[in-house]
Amino acid sequence: MLTFPWIPSMRVDRRSLLKLAAAAAVPGAWTARPQARALARDPFALGVASAPSARGIVLWTRIVPDLAEEIARLSHPDLDRYLTARREELQRPAPLYDVRWEVAQDEAFTQVVRRGTARAVPELAHSVHVELGDLRPARWYWYRFLLGDAVSPPGRTRTPEAPDAARAPLRFALASCQHYEHGHFGAYAHMRADDPEVVLFVGDYIYEGGPNTRRFRPHPFPSARTLFDYRLRHALYRCDPDLQKMHAHCPWLVTWDDHEVSNDYARDTGEDPHVDGHARRLAAYQAYYEHLPLPVATLIERFSHVRLYRTQHAGALASFIVLDDRQYRDRQPCQPDGRGGSTVVDDAACPQRRDPKRTLLGREQLMWLGQQLAQSKARWNFIVQQTLFSPLNREHGGARYWTDGWDGYPAERERVLAALDAARPRNPVFLGGDVHANWVCDVKRDFDDPHAPAIAAEFCGTSITSASGWDAARTARVAADNPHVRYADSERRGYLLGDVEKKRLHARLRVVDDVRKAEPAIATLAEFEVADGRGGVRRA
Ligand code: FE
Ligand code: CA
Repeated sequence: MLTFPWIPSMRVDRRSLLKLAAAAAVPGAWTARPQARALARDPFALGVASAPSARGIVLWTRIVPDLAEEIARLSHPDLDRYLTARREELQRPAPLYDVRWEVAQDEAFTQVVRRGTARAVPELAHSVHVELGDLRPARWYWYRFLLGDAVSPPGRTRTPEAPDAARAPLRFALASCQHYEHGHFGAYAHMRADDPEVVLFVGDYIYEGGPNTRRFRPHPFPSARTLFDYRLRHALYRCDPDLQKMHAHCPWLVTWDDHEVSNDYARDTGEDPHVDGHARRLAAYQAYYEHLPLPVATLIERFSHVRLYRTQHAGALASFIVLDDRQYRDRQPCQPDGRGGSTVVDDAACPQRRDPKRTLLGREQLMWLGQQLAQSKARWNFIVQQTLFSPLNREHGGARYWTDGWDGYPAERERVLAALDAARPRNPVFLGGDVHANWVCDVKRDFDDPHAPAIAAEFCGTSITSASGWDAARTARVAADNPHVRYADSERRGYLLGDVEKKRLHARLRVVDDVRKAEPAIATLAEFEVADGRGGVRRA
């Protein structure tokens, strides 16, 4: 039995935490209901996806038995009809599906090496999570799902390296912040051509907000609050062909940020502290699980706690230490009366910001992170998290900080730096997103000392589509005021491509010309290198 001191009523029994997930895989564990006779034309309309896991790989799909209905709701702008559909869905008896799956060594599926059946239940939106631990390491495999006469599109996935293998190079893509209403996901078509082995997605997979007809790609849905709303929002995003194809192209290692639930939320408090805190978070977490290839072990106590922080090893070459900075954090400091969420505060006017008792990761996760850093034998140690880790003073000659990122929790940042300093893992590199801009930094043990050597590198990557709101002049001004910043650009959208070699990390900032184009052009904005054993970043 594990206890979590910051959630007083929470006790987690590992047996019960896996029950729900296991039930989805074991026939007869749920009340039997007749299999639906008539299927929609394409029950696999939301595509397929996969992820690496500690055991091997996770394969995902979601059966959409009534896609015609779902699409009608997706495209119908009438709020009354939407709310009626929401009520009806909650009362409608839904069928079970026994979905067959196959894993093959070739794209034509002539050499199938594993096959089986998984039960898709309405309680989990007919999502399917198949976790396989006994495939050969470091191999590409193809997988697909079958239901009745329907066959899913094939997905390609890759099993993790054997623990001692140090194969290089390893290519990853880093992405975040795909606001559907801000543009097309054409960056993913270029990412696919760049052919990474794994996509690291660090948050804002969906945006929960309500309709805004002035936006470039508007949708009709009200701000997501319920499980129905979040399921629909994920389905809307997953109907995007570029996103779907990128999921089918290679495994994704994901974590979330705020908009998977609500803007700037902290544990159970959103911007408006009176809106559905706990229930809303649970609904959002459940829909997130249902739409992404998360390992079944992430599922704890029916979504009141989802264990998202985890380490994914890529042999002896690299470890990806994935953090969750939303679920356990204290509220942002110096919030205006009656409001949650973030502000920009003056350092002197907000001593609460520096209160050492305030936490971002939660005590348990922070201890775990320290252990991961100390135990790691990997040559490259990526700390895969949501937002800009390095401080960013926004006022020339002053000290003003945005409170939603690590700048809202400087004592926690200090604890992470101390843990890094004590553990001295080889080549630590912070990866992040959230701020809709590229920030490339030297991470210092003491950021106030301009002569301090870098102890880590940081690449905070730009958004897939989400707008930044900062112009080039402001970005350049703030970058100049923060000497550990080596490069900054807020005007371009795209992703980061990382080639992990034994002796260096080579990073390219890949940017599209215009997110309003369905097929944008791509360019490399800047290239950087982190040399083995050197800590900081060098422009290549
Ligand atoms: Fe975002
Ligand atoms: Ca965010």
